[in-house]
Amino acid sequence: MFVAFDDTDSKEWMCTTFLATEIIDALRDLDLIGLPRLVRLNPAVPWKTRGNAALCLRFGHGRGQATSVGEIRGTPYFCYPREEGEVDPQTILGRCSALIERWSQVLEDASPGLVVSSNRPSQRFYWRAVREIVAKDEVDRELHRIGAHTFTMSGGRGVIGATAAMAWRPMDHTYEVITYRAKERWGQPRTITDDSIQEMDRCHPTTFNNFDITANHRAIAPHTPCPVLFGIRGDDPYDLAPAMQQISSEPIDRWVTFLSNQGTDDHIIKRWRELVPDRSYEVEATVASEATTLVGGHVVLRTLIRGEKPLDMTFYEPSKSFREVARGLRPGDKIRALGELRAEPRTLNVEKVEVLSLAPARKKTSNPFCPDCGKSMQSLGRQAGYRCRRCGRRAGEDQATYAVETRTIAPGWYEPPVCARRHLSKPLKRVGLEGRSITL
Ligand SMILES: [Zn+2]
Repeated sequence: MFVAFDDTDSKEWMCTTFLATEIIDALRDLDLIGLPRLVRLNPAVPWKTRGNAALCLRFGHGRGQATSVGEIRGTPYFCYPREEGEVDPQTILGRCSALIERWSQVLEDASPGLVVSSNRPSQRFYWRAVREIVAKDEVDRELHRIGAHTFTMSGGRGVIGATAAMAWRPMDHTYEVITYRAKERWGQPRTITDDSIQEMDRCHPTTFNNFDITANHRAIAPHTPCPVLFGIRGDDPYDLAPAMQQISSEPIDRWVTFLSNQGTDDHIIKRWRELVPDRSYEVEATVASEATTLVGGHVVLRTLIRGEKPLDMTFYEPSKSFREVARGLRPGDKIRALGELRAEPRTLNVEKVEVLSLAPARKKTSNPFCPDCGKSMQSLGRQAGYRCRRCGRRAGEDQATYAVETRTIAPGWYEPPVCARRHLSKPLKRVGLEGRSITL
């Protein structure tokens, strides 16, 4: 029996993954089948809640080898590879909906949806929800088709994400162990030692996005007053509990290991006919002009895609050193960029870029000299040529003196520092590991 839910949290303080721990604890008379699943959806959806995460749990009477999933206030929890026997969906729906009612933030715009079903929705509902925008009535029709039971509050927009989470069959996947704080500490500053995070990062190379060396800032703990203490992401589920134990922190009230689509680039559309805003794409482009820096520090690069179509790409201020890649590019350079297309102003918000090839770049060292007067000629503006101030003689751009420019960047992949990465963005560290990690 699959139990999935979404849109229970506000932007500020609740967290849908915490609700998952409450449900696991409340249904302890049943077994978890497989790991709980934390599924991130299209980050470009305008009405997203924080992080846009949906959850899917599977319950039943477990068979086969038990694997540790986590611990909730001292009680260990396990998952099993197979299930046997029947579980009544109405009973599960009733027990879970009571928890959704208790923990949801409907006064703060949440629109919770809970789906309970023994059949899974078509997996296209996952792919569409992670890359596009799915209408609720389409989802309602699919849920009716598979005979699912639902519980909704405040419009129940959450059934869209819940259905997508239940529909996910991983092509590529990662894991995250999430730890939670004791209730009396919620909203208080978190006690975690940064040194222990860096030490853990060194000792457990299968983990990623732990610590931002350039900003000297930890990335494993949220900034919101939510119940999460910290989360560690990685490719090896058996490495995460030892990594967690290496962190020096305040007491952990509970922890759970999730199977996730985080760090997979599942949101990126690679084959497309035209670019539609609020979706994320991979595009190949030729740099059209040097990057410009806007007030506020965002860096904009004008490029051409598919021959002549102009497309602006933005490297945002929070991505810090990543902006130097854009600043190092010159007209004629070829790149492959991954990012979300914004509607207004129309720009690709770059999450990762590969420099494919560098054009020969030159830097002007002096203006041309007038052959009659011997004086340096005056520039008439960008690409407009030169004129002698004394006799009015003109000269073209090519008559200036140039030197070959020493380039500051080389072909290859570039990504923002840890703190500026999206949940779904695949870190370069994971390239080549796709789909190889163990599935629990
Ligand atoms: Zn002259």
